[in-house]
Amino acid sequence: MAKVKDPVCGMTIESTTAAAEGRYGGATVYFCAAACQKTYERSHRPDPR
Ligand SMILES: [Zn+2]
Repeated sequence: MAKVKDPVCGMTIESTTAAAEGRYGGATVYFCAAACQKTYERSHRPDPR
C-alpha cells in the first residue's frame, strides 16, 4: 500500500482505494474522485493505451 497525493485537491489517499487513476506522461496518477480526474484531464492528456 502506498500513500499518494491527488494533484487536483491535494488530498492524500491510498493508491489501492483511489476512486480513479490514469497514466499521464508514463506515470500513474491517482485521484480521490472521478470528478478530480476530469478536472486533471482538462490540462493533462492521458497516455494512449
Ligand atoms: Zn481529489
